[in-house]
Amino acid sequence: MVERVKRVAILGSTGSVGTQTLDIVRSFPQSLRVVALAAGRNERLLRDQVLEFKPSYVHAGSGRLDSVDGATQIANLEDLACLSDVDLVVVATVGAAGLRPTLAALGAGKPVALANKEVIVIAGDHVMAASRDSGAPILPVDSEPSAVWQCLAGESGAVGRLIITASGGAFRGRSWDSLANVSPEEALKHPTWTMGRKITIDSATLANKAFEVIEAHYLFDIPYDRIDVVIHRQSIIHSMVEFTDGSVKAQIGPPDMRYPIQFALFYPERQANPSLPRFDAANAGTLTFEPMDPEHYPCFQMIVDCGKRGGTWPAVAAGADEAAVDLFLDRAIRFTSIPEVIKTTLAAHRPIANPDLDDLIGAAEWARGHALALATGHAIR
Ligand code: MG
Repeated sequence: MVERVKRVAILGSTGSVGTQTLDIVRSFPQSLRVVALAAGRNERLLRDQVLEFKPSYVHAGSGRLDSVDGATQIANLEDLACLSDVDLVVVATVGAAGLRPTLAALGAGKPVALANKEVIVIAGDHVMAASRDSGAPILPVDSEPSAVWQCLAGESGAVGRLIITASGGAFRGRSWDSLANVSPEEALKHPTWTMGRKITIDSATLANKAFEVIEAHYLFDIPYDRIDVVIHRQSIIHSMVEFTDGSVKAQIGPPDMRYPIQFALFYPERQANPSLPRFDAANAGTLTFEPMDPEHYPCFQMIVDCGKRGGTWPAVAAGADEAAVDLFLDRAIRFTSIPEVIKTTLAAHRPIANPDLDDLIGAAEWARGHALALATGHAIR
């Protein structure tokens, strides 16, 4: 069988999702080809990737790369996202960085495999409209929305509710008050997943789960009051969909990001990949479910409420959280100050009605700056 090669651009190629996407590409040299790579800071790894995958185009956020013979350097990420010889754009950047390239790719009619959920949190209406207008789909690259997407396949509506699972993060089972002195190293030890630094801290505060609720609201067009979150420590069930007749579908598999990445890269086809671990039901042990205690995760409801209020609020939550996580990783604030930084920033925000894209990006940037200044000015430690 002669397969058509899918030509892929990867934005954020040196991050956790980026490197795991390249892992999938290695498994399918006949059907996937890397045409463009872009990375922010890790120049050394980017150079290694260029030598291995020989893309036609490369973007280094830090400036020009030396010794990348044969690859054209592209200064602007948006230009890279809509190259004519790219079939699919993987957006695996962090924070607000992926927003404009995502919109550029969708505007050019290119499907976007989206791992950078802040893109939808900041500008959900704009991103979904860009996808609708051009007909280019957004293919979620995250275990939970991928699970919902797979559960919805073959269904014709009749969705009752989404049940999004959460591992509970690094400090599950501990009281909030006991976390005042935890270190970044402790918070970066995720119990079930191997992910990037920002998302791992967001998992410990459950800010990540709040972002996923907002993302699911937009991606699947489900009202917030029909999206539930349940703590499921084993990260084997990646999410569930309850239909109006009460039947529930769950998507199950080992906690390995390469599954949702591969699903998005080949959608609507499925491909055998012997290099991925298999789910062994007989030895999977007990699967548990517990209610999520909002007292234990003060970021969660605060951020979901921003999603419900809409406008510039979720952009501010995303910008403030990005800054708060950086501050914590730099040891400038305590882990337990992360929700305080977000809350204080939200309290200072003057919302803009019917924001356009520049308003939303401006709101996220303002929030980031405001939040960083809180710690610099010693308002929050
Ligand atoms: Mg997730």
